[in-house]
Formats: sequence, structure tokens, C-alpha cells
Amino acid sequence: MTAQEVLDLIKRNQIEMVDFRIVDVPGRQHHVTVPAVEVDVEMLENGIAFDGSSIQGFRGIEESDMVMRPVLESAYVDPFMAAPTLGLMCTVYEPNGTRYERDPRFIAEKAEKFLQDSGIADAAYFGPELEFFLLDDVRYDSSPSGAFYAIDSEEAFWNSGRGGEANLAYKVKNKGGYFPLPPTDTQQDIRTEIVKELMKAGIRVERHHHEVATAGQAEINFRFHTLTKTGDTVMMYKYIVRQVARKYGKVATFMPKPILGDNGSGMHVHQSLFNGNQPLFFEEGQYGNLSALARHYIAGILSHAPALLAFANPSTNSYKRLVPGFEAPINLVYSKGNRSAAIRVPVAAVTPKSARIEFRTPDGTANPYLAFAAMLMAGLDGIERKLDPTQLGFGPIDKNIYELSAEEKASIQNVPGSLEEALDALQADHEFLLRGGVFTKDFIQNWIDLKRSSEVQPLAQRPHPYEFHLYLDL
Ligand code: GLN
Ligand code: MG
Ligand code: MG
Ligand code: MG
Repeated sequence: MTAQEVLDLIKRNQIEMVDFRIVDVPGRQHHVTVPAVEVDVEMLENGIAFDGSSIQGFRGIEESDMVMRPVLESAYVDPFMAAPTLGLMCTVYEPNGTRYERDPRFIAEKAEKFLQDSGIADAAYFGPELEFFLLDDVRYDSSPSGAFYAIDSEEAFWNSGRGGEANLAYKVKNKGGYFPLPPTDTQQDIRTEIVKELMKAGIRVERHHHEVATAGQAEINFRFHTLTKTGDTVMMYKYIVRQVARKYGKVATFMPKPILGDNGSGMHVHQSLFNGNQPLFFEEGQYGNLSALARHYIAGILSHAPALLAFANPSTNSYKRLVPGFEAPINLVYSKGNRSAAIRVPVAAVTPKSARIEFRTPDGTANPYLAFAAMLMAGLDGIERKLDPTQLGFGPIDKNIYELSAEEKASIQNVPGSLEEALDALQADHEFLLRGGVFTKDFIQNWIDLKRSSEVQPLAQRPHPYEFHLYLDL
């Protein structure tokens, strides 16, 4: 798309406002709005200035002038604003016109370039499956000392009996959200509306359903695509999910474990490599019909997994999901069909073109650009070093890993137990990310420092409500 075509789009849709958007380091979108009459070819090509000092993970106030420049293909007529608005995803530049090294989208683009330069494949495909909760109410104390929150959902309301006798027949049973018909499923219409908005935004939706958790958990899947493009889709997806939820008076959260004792929300990531039309992960007759290249890729991911999780599971809450009993992986093994393994090899209805691996640890608090780029770099490292998953103790294991004997379990490596552990692992193991300049040393150090100082430490210092339960009377 050219700048002139974007201007034509603005005219055709009688757009009044143009919204320039960027993604910060943790993965939130930020925006600046310009009246459409002020937008011209030059602005679309050169971008607009903004202050980078207030954007989390970007730079300090001493050198805060930055530029956001639109990715013209991302032009999207945004139906959620009162005035007709065009949304534009942007990349970040230094004032001197070079690209900004801490822009997560730039890292995703560099990872794709690194793949092509490696000669291993010309495209990596990513298919993330996002799960989330649609809640009626979330109240929390957002002051610096805040430690209290309350959550409510329609399902929880009826299940608690507060809805009176009339609706007791239509309870979502404990962990039974997957997937009875309405009226038990109370979120059909809202999910359908989200899907319709996603499709209007050009996203190819494959399916939607209620997820396992009792308190109103959803999953909406879209079709896989190349790395950076899929990062853009995840940002758009979260925006649309939140906006439609709000229209219905609900709150959508991608927090991995909002509710104790119920299933958490993951972002499983399906991955495969292609050369032109040639799928590189398929070989008939091998375990899971996987090629040797795919097995090396698996070994790369699993051997770097502790460090990788600092990007794929980057919140303190992430590790409350990675516990036994909730279909979330805790062990670093791969397996056909087995949902207790960190990597699942889908086997139902798989063709050479759809042969892929599913990495199951990631969750929706990941910045998708960084998480996908890091996974690709880990997988490629496995391919280049011809790592063998079996030799490294990564299976395959086809039993339910939650139920293995202590002896069998002893030889299996676990995912990190906390964000702190994952950050320590990243500190010790990040050479594979620096190759080809995809991630810079500055970016990794900034990430580790940011996560420690603004998430790990503040949480650790807070008296927790549960501590009152434990210690009040001691
Ligand atoms: N919610 C589960 C998780 O945390 C996955 C459930 C599923 O999709 N089978 O990963
Ligand atoms: Mg799924
Ligand atoms: Mg699911
Ligand atoms: Mg899945």
C-alpha cells in the first residue's frame, strides 16, 4: 500500500481522525491521534514525533525525541471510536532516521531476516492460540500500596447460587466450560461479535469456543502467518477483544492465572518452517511424522526454554499457571498429542503442509514480537547445532506426565518456577538471541532490569492478603 492509497482510504471512508500506534517493550499499545485533514503523503511516509521518555522500556528524558512511522499495510478502519477513525501500526525511529533498537517490532523483523539469511528456510509460520477470561467485574486497588482485588463473572454468579433457584440447571460444572451449548455457555454472542470484528479487521478466524475454566474463559483462534505479521495480529486481536468486552460491560483479561483452582489462560504457539511451498517439518513414518529438522528445532526450544520463558512467560503471574493439574505444561519434553508436555506434536488431521509443533508454555502476557523472535532464534540454534531432543532428555514421552512415578520424573527437567528464575536463566543464556544482531545486549539487559525492578521486586515487597490468613494470629 502506498501513502496515496492510504489517503484514498481516508477519503473513501470519510475518516475524521488518524490514530498512530506503537507497541512498548512489555507489549502495550500507545497512540497519538491526528485530524485526518492534517494527514498528507509526507506525514505518512516520514511519521510523526513523540516523547519516548514516558513509554515503558524506551529511553530516559535526556534524549526523548522519537518518531513513529506508519506501516502503511496496517491501515484499519477502527469501529470503536465515536469519530470515524483510521488506525495505523507504526515502527519507531531515532530522530536521525535510523530504526530504534528497542522497538519490539524491529526485533521481530530482524529475526525474519536472520532466518532468510541463514538459508535454512525462507519463512517461519506462527499460530498463537490465545485464551482469556471475560469477567463481569474486576476491582483492584491501583494505588502503589494496593494488594486487594475482587473478580466476578456471570458463571461464578450462577454457580454460587446467588442467582436464586431458577438457573441452577445451567451451571458450568467445575472445570466444565469446555464446551456445553448455551444456555450453559453464556458467552456465545459476545464471542461471535468479537469474531465478526476480527474478520472485519482482516483477520482470518478459524473457530471460537468456551474454554475449560468455570468462570467464563474463552478461546478464539485465527490462522497462522509469518512472524511480524502475526505479532501485529496479536496486538489487533487483544485490542478488539477488549473493546467488544467493554461494549458488553465486561472486562477481558489475558492474565495467565487470574483465578485460584481454575484453569489458567495460555497462548500456545504453533510453529513450522517452509521453503517456498515446501514444508520442512514433515517426514512420513518418523515419530509424529516429524522431520529431523523439526526435531532439532524442538531441541533448540527445549534446551533454551528456561531463558526463553523470560519472554514467553514474562509476568510474575505466568508461573502461577505453570503448575500441575490444569493442562498447562510443567515439563520440558515433547510428545504426540499429550497436553502435559511443553511441546505437543499435533497428530489429528495433519497433512505435510500442516505438520507443526505446538509450544504450550507461552501466555498472553508475552510481547508477541519478542516471544516469537526468541522462539525462532532458539529453534534455529537447535537446527544449526543439530541438537537431538532424546539425547538431551526431552522425550518423546507419551504418558500423562502429571502422573509419572517419582523415579520417572527425576530425569525430566521442569520449567522455571518463577519469573525471577527465568530472568536468571536469560542472564546466563542469551548468546543465541544476539546472533545476527536480532536482539542487542542492551535490549536483553534492559528487559531483565525492567522486569526485576518494576515487577519481581515490587511484588515480593508487598504484604499479600494470603499472608494475613497464614500469619495474622501467629
Ligand atoms: N488453558 C490451558 C493452558 O493453560 C490449555 C487448555 C487447552 O487448550 N487444552 O494452557
Ligand atoms: Mg486451542
Ligand atoms: Mg485452549
Ligand atoms: Mg493448543
